[in-house]
Amino acid sequence: MRFLISGGAGFLGSHLIDSINGEIVIVDDFSTAKYFQAKSNIKVIREKIERFDTTEKYDVVIHLASRPSPEDYMQYPVETALSNSLGTYRMLEIARKSDAIFIYSSSSEIYGDAEIIPTPEDYWGKVNPIGMRSCYDESKRFSEALAMSYYREYGLDVRIQRPFNVYGPRLREDGSYGRVISRFIVQALRGENITIYGDGNQTRSFLYVSDWVEATLKMIYTNGIKGQVFNIGSDKETKIIDLARMILKITGSKSNIVFLPPREDDPRRRAADIKKAKELLKWEPKISLEEGLTRTINWFRSVIS
Ligand code: UDP
Repeated sequence: MRFLISGGAGFLGSHLIDSINGEIVIVDDFSTAKYFQAKSNIKVIREKIERFDTTEKYDVVIHLASRPSPEDYMQYPVETALSNSLGTYRMLEIARKSDAIFIYSSSSEIYGDAEIIPTPEDYWGKVNPIGMRSCYDESKRFSEALAMSYYREYGLDVRIQRPFNVYGPRLREDGSYGRVISRFIVQALRGENITIYGDGNQTRSFLYVSDWVEATLKMIYTNGIKGQVFNIGSDKETKIIDLARMILKITGSKSNIVFLPPREDDPRRRAADIKKAKELLKWEPKISLEEGLTRTINWFRSVIS
């Protein structure tokens, strides 16, 4: 099988390509990729996805390219909105001409400040269309709408996933790229203050990256899921303050916890209803938060100074 993967050099992509058998072409602008290592069965094209075009044919087209870290995408709102609109259009066109399976990696962010927790796929979301996060959540929503339009108008084999806060080794920790888990781990290992935005009572549900890879492989190889959307996440909700305490405990760190002003439009609660993925994909997460954090911390110990 021939795979085209946008964002294949990023955090999710770098794990996915380790588990895929076949010929793989990656399109990535390397704007956020840090821990990618080239391999012989992988061709890398260095290009922005919204500018990429090809006459080559693929069996599976996977669109991952996007800046996922809020502080980072807020600094690059135009680039973020384009990779999730024009970029999606480019990838859909390539998939249509190839008659390929098209997998779009959307986001739990499309639910915004959700009022139903755990959130099922048929919840429509509560999103600020002109807020600081709109470059990301609204463009992800548009991408889903565009992908479903290709499914309805051209019969394209579209499959949409909504990942919830995936973490693990190779998650960037530096500057604005850091997500909450990578940032807290590095702060703990270096003995720096753990920076909580707001009171720490906001929640997320965290998914270890190998569980995300397994779900994505199931989405590629399961028949009869054309035009379907799946939450790919955990139904276990964790308060950010409790996450900080777990990381302090596992690392044995003496770092202090400090409370900073809340992030604008920060969703208060997030957890995935995964009944649909359990039923149709026969998938559910296997790695507990404690186990995943331990593995991630061990990896960070080996790469940071
Ligand atoms: N967060 C925090 N301190 C940080 C980074 C993040 O308290 O240094 C909080 C953030 O306010 C949010 C949660 O952790 O409530 C998850 O943030 P992240 O940037 O990982 O991604 P998000 O889920 O918001 O897209």
